[in-house]
Amino acid sequence: MHAADAGLDATLEPALREAVQGSAELFALLRAPWPEGGVERDTFGAGEQHAHDLLLARGRALGLETSVDFAGNLWLTSPGHDRGAPAWVTGSHLDSVPQGGNYDGAAGVVAGLAVLQALHACGQRPRRDIVLAAFRAEEASSWYRGDFQSHVGSRAALGMLDPQELQRARHLRDGRSLYDGMVSAGARPQEIRLGHRSIDPSRCHGFLELHIEQGPVLVERGLPVGVVTGIRGSARAREATIHGVDAHSGAVPHEYRHDAVLAGAEFCHRMDQAWTRVRAEGGDLVFTVGRLFTDAQRHSITKVPGRLDFSIDLRSQNAATLERMVTLARHLAGEIATARRVRIDLGAFNTSHPAVMDPKLVDSLDAGCAQLKIPAMRLPSGAGHDAADFAAAGVPTAMIFVRNDHGSHNPHEAMNLDDFAHATRLLAWQLLQ
Ligand SMILES: [Zn+2]
Repeated sequence: MHAADAGLDATLEPALREAVQGSAELFALLRAPWPEGGVERDTFGAGEQHAHDLLLARGRALGLETSVDFAGNLWLTSPGHDRGAPAWVTGSHLDSVPQGGNYDGAAGVVAGLAVLQALHACGQRPRRDIVLAAFRAEEASSWYRGDFQSHVGSRAALGMLDPQELQRARHLRDGRSLYDGMVSAGARPQEIRLGHRSIDPSRCHGFLELHIEQGPVLVERGLPVGVVTGIRGSARAREATIHGVDAHSGAVPHEYRHDAVLAGAEFCHRMDQAWTRVRAEGGDLVFTVGRLFTDAQRHSITKVPGRLDFSIDLRSQNAATLERMVTLARHLAGEIATARRVRIDLGAFNTSHPAVMDPKLVDSLDAGCAQLKIPAMRLPSGAGHDAADFAAAGVPTAMIFVRNDHGSHNPHEAMNLDDFAHATRLLAWQLLQ
């Protein structure tokens, strides 16, 4: 029988079940410093270090090869039969947002450890090396502000981090630079300036990240596992403004008004209509106006509003869709401004590229779900992940989502251990292909 036609082998299945049971204890230890409220695994801080110390100790206890790179990322390797062959890499991040949940990031690292533990328990050596990565600083933008991108650990590992970012990022609480934050955590950021990397993409057979779903889709559909098709890129206008003219709300007829709010309402409505058209054509898009406000000190119930401020967040798996929507937004802004006698300034759009998951790996994960009898569906990821950096580096990449209730980036993340067991079996199955 071809390997892809078989489930997990008969000795590995019970070993994995036992390892997953043990994961409950590890999750409890991970959240132990925060018995109440959310976890605070702060990027390059004591909270993140607590998780890295735990995982390093577990790796050593299993006799895995362990190393910590210049960015503070932890690597645990289970050596394969063919040590010259490109390795499977799996893992996720161990930091959290402030007042975050216990499973965002950690689930992927704990799942990888369960697989390596099960292999160890039944004395199985994989065909190729399996490397478990625990990345630093995926949530850096929740702890630092300034002109820099998140996923600092995985980008540093892949040699994709601009060293300037480390100086531009300043800690929200104490203002120190990300560079200094790394040094205080025992990392060696000076090596980033020298162009070092800790993993060579051409030496990676593939990258697999298990992660909780941070939206409601799997809960709504009643499915424990999702196979991710792609990670959405974004186009964001942070500071869009509509300039009109303040006027008396009773005295000025429609044709003489310069009403910023009604212009903004029309803009939002027409963008929403465009979103519906994209979806009707089978395209992937989400559109959000998260901030929309007048100045309550300046405006009042009896005033035609002269100014409206808002934000635009567009995300899609398709870069062309994002480009088309930005072009449309600018076109609508011009048209509505003329018709409504206002000035609409959308400002700059910050963009990030969508990450495409490897089609062969996605198909393989689907086949794995069928073999292992795991109910699953395909879905895109709306949030960014370390996996996007591996995809950008040219490594065949895929993600497994685990059902999670109550959303993410809050203390109430709720992942069921049975769902985690399904996803971990799928991870093990794929890592042994
Ligand atoms: Zn995450």
